[in-house]
Amino acid sequence: MDMEAAQKKVQELHEKLNRYSYDYYVLDKPSVPDSEYDRLLQELIQLEEEFPGLKTPDSPTQRVGGEILEGFKKVEHKTPMLSLGNAFNEQDLRDFDRRVRQAIGDDFQYVAELKIDGLAVSLRYEDGLFVQGATRGDGTIGEDITENLRTVHSIPLRLKRSESIEVRGEAFMPKRSFERLNESKIEKGEEPFANPRNAAAGSLRQLDPKIAAKRNLDIFVYGIGDLGDTGVQRQSEGLDLLDELGFRTNHERRKCETIDEVIELLHNMQEKRQSLSYEIDGVVIKVDLLEQQEKLGYTAKSPRWAIAYKFPAEEVMTKLIDIQLNVGRTGVITPTAILEPVRVAGTTVQRASLHNEDLIREKDIKIGDYVVVKKAGDIIPEVVNVLEDQRTGDEKDFHMPAECPECESELVRIEGEVALRCINPKCPAQIREGLIHFVSRNAMNIDGLGERVIAQLFKEGLITDVADLYELSKEQLIQLERMGEKSVENLLRAIDRSKENSLEKLLFGIGIRHVGSKAAKTLAQHFETMDRLQNASRDEIIAISEIGNKMADSIVTYFEKPEVMTLIQELKGHGVNMEYKGPKLAAAAESTSYFAGKTVVLTGKLEELTREEAKEQIEALGGKVTGSVSKSTDLVIAGEAAGSKLSKAQELNIEVWNEARLVEELKN
Ligand code: NAD
Repeated sequence: MDMEAAQKKVQELHEKLNRYSYDYYVLDKPSVPDSEYDRLLQELIQLEEEFPGLKTPDSPTQRVGGEILEGFKKVEHKTPMLSLGNAFNEQDLRDFDRRVRQAIGDDFQYVAELKIDGLAVSLRYEDGLFVQGATRGDGTIGEDITENLRTVHSIPLRLKRSESIEVRGEAFMPKRSFERLNESKIEKGEEPFANPRNAAAGSLRQLDPKIAAKRNLDIFVYGIGDLGDTGVQRQSEGLDLLDELGFRTNHERRKCETIDEVIELLHNMQEKRQSLSYEIDGVVIKVDLLEQQEKLGYTAKSPRWAIAYKFPAEEVMTKLIDIQLNVGRTGVITPTAILEPVRVAGTTVQRASLHNEDLIREKDIKIGDYVVVKKAGDIIPEVVNVLEDQRTGDEKDFHMPAECPECESELVRIEGEVALRCINPKCPAQIREGLIHFVSRNAMNIDGLGERVIAQLFKEGLITDVADLYELSKEQLIQLERMGEKSVENLLRAIDRSKENSLEKLLFGIGIRHVGSKAAKTLAQHFETMDRLQNASRDEIIAISEIGNKMADSIVTYFEKPEVMTLIQELKGHGVNMEYKGPKLAAAAESTSYFAGKTVVLTGKLEELTREEAKEQIEALGGKVTGSVSKSTDLVIAGEAAGSKLSKAQELNIEVWNEARLVEELKN
């Protein structure tokens, strides 16, 4: 980049960052996700390194926080309230560690503390009495929010000793309070807060303290502004002193001897993050000894003796390039967002389901929009919202087609459903998806038949329904792309083996609407053979306590179809087993095994058994396997690297076994 281009870019970045900062700090209403702000800021830092002449004192890289809101008295901080340098990965941390070593040698320790996601406040005490509380503001001048801070129960109005002291901490809104506040805002038709940080800041910067009082705010105090004659020599001692004086400090802190120890701790904290009752966005690492901190000193914006490690962003901004349509196994048409690839919480995301047209309207999503993406429940990517002020006017509205994108038959909307469906039973997309489902793990479990192979078999006309799978020959398979002799043999063996599956796998695999793998098991256990289930009346089916009306109707209608009769006949003809092979209902109930009637949770990685196998065996002995630990859990099996479920079990005093013990007991 030449000087002129750099100058233009820098100006553009200043303008954007200042605007975002204003929205974030002054209005408490961010217009882009933090990750986008951080990305632009990093870009500016790099440009300023490359072209030092472009670094001005008013650059966003040199400033702390935002402007002061009109209406509050101003407070001057005796010692400035700074920001922190950021580390976004292990390398950044190792670079920080190297800089520290260069300045003070190898003999030092770190304290690692959680980085609470709230806003920094200063609390001043005179002779033990709380006299003034302020926001960080621009670092030098903050806003006087004493009356609002008085409403925070964890801020002591009188200390346990009559010290005169100024302390700093992070005021925050616990996750639960945030959820409740937003629910009530939505109910009243008001705009919800974007995140707990902005909710906390917005609450503390209300002119009426009664509002702050209702918001259930909390605080963790993490530092002392001016140590004066407290005799404290280390950050860790400072925290202990704060505890003694009656402040609430965060006890997840730990001393670390090396940066490797710090990095290990980060991983643990990241895992623990979800289970905490408050939001954290990283871990702050500080050199412990104050004398060494002094030696390291400060930049204009932050101390050189500390760094904030930020967890991988959970919400990021990206461009929605297109909306594609997928036809599912049951004919439901799902619009899917095609995104410019982006890292979210550690993995690259480029597609996200948009579920249905109503949702697209509700979120006002257009093709070409910039959107915020997150991973729901940390797994499935989701479009959270559109960033309207990024629009250029070139965005295009999306409309659902009237016809199926695969077979062109007319789509219908079934009453009471939001989804559009293709109801053509011969729709190739549905049959293909049905096949993928049929061979999947919880269904017939045919290894070696991935989506790619199925698509090929389909394209070549080698299969048209699931029964055809059992007629495939070696000669046919060997012609497919990337299919060697060995994989063909393995595949044929897997297909052959699937004929021996117990009935529930077939029942789940043929894809009766509303019948999941659990219901399939229940049905198989009750009726024991396909014939009996096929001939069962609606009343007989509904008599089973786990089966509801909707499912019973769906089963009866399914077996009434002539094409289903033919399919089952064909499968039978190929030697596919039609009987239940698991433990009989009565046997499970009468089981005298250890597991009979017990509720068991499996967690961590099992070595000898797969989870599915362990579950099956425990259930065969009359036990029930559930997904989460609660007071009604009787036993937890903890494999390798068990995490929060194990801690919860220990907390609740629930019996915990390792895998070896389980295997032994199962043998008995
Ligand atoms: P920062 O959040 O990166 O780190 C400094 C702050 O960490 C301190 O001021 C303190 O408040 C806090 N902190 C929490 N726990 C702490 C602990 N144990 N010890 C010390 N400090 C602790 O820096 P910042 O200057 O407060 O804010 C920058 C943040 O604001 C970034 O995350 C940025 O993305 C976000 N931001 C977002 C937008 C936007 O438009 N979305 C705009 C501006 C800023």
